[in-house]
Amino acid sequence: MAEHAEHITCQEVVELVTDYLEGGLPAAEVSLFEQHILFCEGCRTYLEQMRLTVSTVGRLDTGDVPDQLRDRLLSAFRDWKRP
Ligand SMILES: [Zn+2]
Repeated sequence: MAEHAEHITCQEVVELVTDYLEGGLPAAEVSLFEQHILFCEGCRTYLEQMRLTVSTVGRLDTGDVPDQLRDRLLSAFRDWKRP
């Protein structure tokens, strides 16, 4: 795998996904994010899950999404990565 100076990790995708879905990411980060999503199937799945969550909940307000939900999603994501 080629090392680029500019790339984001799966962990960063998890951290940025809410901002991404809310349109709150700066353009530079959006392209890094989308670049990662293109090449990382796990994160693509994760993004789809988050999209579903958003459409289920209606909208993502920081106040409306409990930390537990975020933690639950984060640990679900870690489980997928487990061999
Ligand atoms: Zn990834």
